[in-house]
Amino acid sequence: MPIPINSKITGYKVLTDGQVVPEPTKELMHEGLSRPSSLPGNTYKIKPPGAEHAMYITINDIILNAGTEHEERRPYEIFINSKNMEQFQWMVALTRVLSAVFRKGGDVAFLVEELKAVFDPRGGYIKKGGYVPSLVAEIGYVLEEHLLWTGVIKKEELSEQAKAYVEQKLAEFGGEVDESGFPANARVCQKCSKKAVIRLDGCDVCAACGDSKCG
Ligand SMILES: [Zn+2]
Repeated sequence: MPIPINSKITGYKVLTDGQVVPEPTKELMHEGLSRPSSLPGNTYKIKPPGAEHAMYITINDIILNAGTEHEERRPYEIFINSKNMEQFQWMVALTRVLSAVFRKGGDVAFLVEELKAVFDPRGGYIKKGGYVPSLVAEIGYVLEEHLLWTGVIKKEELSEQAKAYVEQKLAEFGGEVDESGFPANARVCQKCSKKAVIRLDGCDVCAACGDSKCG
């Protein structure tokens, strides 16, 4: 069957008897991929309380199979910039290791969980109604935000039923709600780190992620 050629011929191969025309291959993330001269990305600013200087985190992405049905946006590299030289050497190490993992391809969502689980022995800090256990964890939150924005990972949504339950219980609970939208006296959730755990019907329930110790 003749196959129409709609684009410029850039190469050819003569098939021997028995060989079949190969399917167009889908480009996957791998270390050998050469870096295009420009990459799309975002720069995020974080400033932990007490830090003298802000930190700027840039995450750049690569678009694989552009313009095809297999088009996919993947993180390619991460840079962290700050005037704060105190953190310099391990920040450089962290960004190099993260970038190397990005370029290997495959799952990257686990990096978010690993970073978010790093606790600073001096204690973390509260930010936007959530508890941030360390500066490394905050970098994890930034990476999560970026991966959600680019569609690499999907937000874990509560089921409609669970959402309705939490909303109803929040209404019953009443009381003061702070700027995060959760009761002012809520405690920090072990699972999602939001300050949103309240006691309902004798059971601790997180109003943000629905985590509950009573099933
Ligand atoms: Zn939670």
